[in-house]
Amino acid sequence: MNINEKQLQQVDKQIQRLLQVNNFYGQKLREAGIKGVSSVEEFRQLPFSQKQDLREAYPLGLMAVPEEEVVRIHSSSGTTGTPVIIPYTAKDVDDWAEMFKRCYEFAGITNRDRIQITPGYGLWTAGIGFQNGAEKLGAMVVPMGPGNTNKQIQMMMDMKSTVITATSSYALLLAEEIEKRGIKDKVHLKKGVIGSERWGKKIRDRISSELGIELYDIYGLTEIYGPGIGISCKYDKGMHIWDDYVYLEIIDPKTGENVPDGEFGEIVITTLVKEGAPLIRYRTHDISRIIPGQCPCGSRFPRIDIISGRSDDMIKIKGVNVFPKQIEEVLEGFPELSSEYQIRLSHLDGKDTMRIYVETNGSVNFLEMASKIAAAVKSKIGFTPLVKIVEIGILPRSEKKTKRVIDERYD
Ligand code: ZN
Repeated sequence: MNINEKQLQQVDKQIQRLLQVNNFYGQKLREAGIKGVSSVEEFRQLPFSQKQDLREAYPLGLMAVPEEEVVRIHSSSGTTGTPVIIPYTAKDVDDWAEMFKRCYEFAGITNRDRIQITPGYGLWTAGIGFQNGAEKLGAMVVPMGPGNTNKQIQMMMDMKSTVITATSSYALLLAEEIEKRGIKDKVHLKKGVIGSERWGKKIRDRISSELGIELYDIYGLTEIYGPGIGISCKYDKGMHIWDDYVYLEIIDPKTGENVPDGEFGEIVITTLVKEGAPLIRYRTHDISRIIPGQCPCGSRFPRIDIISGRSDDMIKIKGVNVFPKQIEEVLEGFPELSSEYQIRLSHLDGKDTMRIYVETNGSVNFLEMASKIAAAVKSKIGFTPLVKIVEIGILPRSEKKTKRVIDERYD
C-alpha cells in the first residue's frame, strides 16, 4: 500500500518541522541528509527509527514543540533499560481520543454503553486511552484499572457494564472466575475490546463463549499515541487502521524492503499529524500483513491482520519468511498431536531444510501422519518440511519459555 499524495505532504510537513526544531529526531534526519519528501521513492529512503533510538533521547529529546504546548507525557514499559518518554500536546490527546472513539464506533459501541476499563492507568497509555475515547463517545465509563477481581466483578454486575476492555489474559481470568461463580446470568456484557497481542484461537473462543460476548482486537503502541490506532470490525477480517493519522507499511525485517500487500512482515509506522513527538518510519517489531481488497463492512480504511508475533521470531527459509505461529496453526489441525513441537533448520548439501518434530501417542501410524503434516505445511507455507514423529514426552519441556525453533544453519 503506497503512501498517497496527501500523506506524503503530511510527512514532509513533519520533517520540515523536525529539522527546524532540531530535536533528537531532527538531528537524526539532518545527519542522514534528509531535506524533505515528495515521492514514494524518497519516502522509502527515509531512515527507520527503533525503540533504541528513542531511548537515547531520554528524557525529553523527542519533544518537537515548545514545552508550554506539552500537556502530558506517557512512557513505554521500561522493564529493560531506559524507558521512552513521549510528550503529547492538547491536540495529540484530542486526536487520540477521536481515533479511539472511532474504534468504539467500529465495534458498534454507542453512548448507551457502559464501558468497564481494566487496563492500567498511569505512565503507560492503556487505561487513559480507553477512557478518553469512551468519554468522547459519550459512553459511561467504569474506570476500574487492573486487579481486584472481586470488586471488578461486583461493579460489573451492579453497574451492568455492557463492554469490557482488557488484555486477553485478564479477560480470560475474568471469564473463568464468572464461570466458576456461576453468575453468568448476572453479567450484562455484550462486547469485549481486547488489546491486540499474539493470542491463540483457543483462548479467544473460551473468552467469547464463557462470557457470551463479541470480541474486537484493538491495535496501537505507546510510541504512537497508544492503543486505538485501529480495530477489527464486526466481520472480524483484520483490523482497520486510521490512515488519516498514521501511515503503516510492512517490511521484510531482514532487508528493510517493503513487501507486497498480503505478505507477512514487520509493521512500520509513520505518524502524520502528531505534534508532541512525531515518528518517522518507526519499526514496531510486530508482525502482520496488509489484507488486500475491501472489507465486507465497506469501510475504506485499510486493514492489517491480527498481530501474529514479533519480528525476532521470524525464520527465513528458501527465500520465504515463516513464523512459528504458522507452523503451530497447521499442527493445531491435528488433534492426535500433543501441544509440543520443535522446528530445526539445517543446511544440507547446499540446501536449507526444515525438520519439524511432533509428539503423539503410539496409536497412530507415524509414517502416514508425517506425510499428512508435511502436505499441510506445504499447502500453507509453500515448501515441504521433513516431519519426524516421536512418542509423547520425548521433546524437551521448560517451565519458562520453551525454545521451539533451533537454527543450525551457518549464516
Ligand atoms: Zn471491516
